[in-house]
Amino acid sequence: MAGRDRYSRRMTTTFDFDACVVGAGAVGLACGYALARRGLSVVVLEKERAIGQGVSSRNSEVVHGGLYYPTGSLKARFCVEGRRALYPFLEAHQVAFRKCGKLVVATSEAELPRLDAVAAQAERNGVEGMQRLTGAEAMALEPGLFAVAALLSPESGVFDSHGYMLALQGEIEAAGGAVVLATPLERASPMVGGGFEIAAGGEAPAELACRLLVTAPGLSAQGVAARVEGYPPGLIPALHYGKGVYFRLQGKAPFERLVYPPPIPGALGTHYRKDLGGQGVFGPDLAYVEAEDYSVDPARAAGFYAYVRRFWPALPDGALSPDYAGVRPKLHGPGEPQPDFRLDGPDAHGIDGLMALFGIESPGLTSSLAIGEAVATRLAPS
Ligand SMILES: Cc1cc2nc3c(=O)[nH]c(=O)nc-3n(C[C@H](O)[C@H](O)[C@H](O)COP(=O)(O)OP(=O)(O)OC[C@H]3O[C@@H](n4cnc5c(N)ncnc54)[C@H](O)[C@@H]3O)c2cc1C
Repeated sequence: MAGRDRYSRRMTTTFDFDACVVGAGAVGLACGYALARRGLSVVVLEKERAIGQGVSSRNSEVVHGGLYYPTGSLKARFCVEGRRALYPFLEAHQVAFRKCGKLVVATSEAELPRLDAVAAQAERNGVEGMQRLTGAEAMALEPGLFAVAALLSPESGVFDSHGYMLALQGEIEAAGGAVVLATPLERASPMVGGGFEIAAGGEAPAELACRLLVTAPGLSAQGVAARVEGYPPGLIPALHYGKGVYFRLQGKAPFERLVYPPPIPGALGTHYRKDLGGQGVFGPDLAYVEAEDYSVDPARAAGFYAYVRRFWPALPDGALSPDYAGVRPKLHGPGEPQPDFRLDGPDAHGIDGLMALFGIESPGLTSSLAIGEAVATRLAPS
């Protein structure tokens, strides 16, 4: 990148890169990959010293089928499209995954209408291979499980999200792009005649000019948008931090498949997964917090025991230990309806060449390749 003097306040059509992406999480890297695949030169700026240290490092690593999201929403579309693209990408790049399938279980008659609602939504969303099971059928598949009925989603799985992000970085670099670490975006100024002048901080502050700009900074989406000169403040949505904690099972993992109770308002609910290392993990729950906070309060275990025993009655006392926490970049507060992903382009904010992403919570990992494609299509239609 060039020095500060060279670019200040210039009016130019000479760009250092066609596109600059802010944030090297799964979504920013997928955007960079999609833009690079269109032949554009791409730089991804990341404030941390390594890629994937944000929301993309603290989640369930589940490939979601796309069952739950309202038909026609970006979440429904990107989850299904992203999932369909993700497995072949992982296979081609030798990134570990296990397409283990998922059981959504009703553990009481009262939950059956919620299971029916998920089944109907999954059908409307075009999710492949969904099967309705009786409790006996589900319990035969997973001995030790308790269910009065279940849905089987064979397309769901778990994967190595960090290996995935490394593969995306590799693709961007192989196309001649760059992923620049420890380099936070500080300011983006739209230039006369189009494009952006970018000021980046860190140990080696630098400026560069690019034609297109994508902001995908996860929990910093609101703060980064405010650093784009001329971004209408009224169009920056409120940020809510939706914290979720996980507990790890000491002992043998009881089930092969993911096990999810019906979703709770605002999240998919505490679920079970056998991770790629073969260990059982439960979580995340949902609690709104005022700031990023990754502590795991051991006292929350009591709630986990009660919840998990609804579908795994044999969970032994003392088997759960605090594991890790993640924070969802939510656009809604407690009790408010859950909004869609926001991919705000020039039609929303009036700034040519800019896509600003907000509220990329779950299923953002699963959706990432589809989000990247959508962003690239908007900015660089082929
Ligand atoms: C508890 C939890 C569980 C989840 N489980 C799943 C799941 O199982 N499956 C699924 O599909 N999705 C899941 N999600 C959602 C998924 O993790 C996110 O949607 C996804 O990781 C978001 O990726 P991102 O790239 O947008 O954000 P991030 O990964 O946070 O990346 C943003 C990057 O931008 C960088 N950055 C910030 N500010 C700047 C700046 N000024 N300059 C440069 N860089 C900057 C950050 O350091 C960070 O690396 C879960 C989320 C949570 C919280």
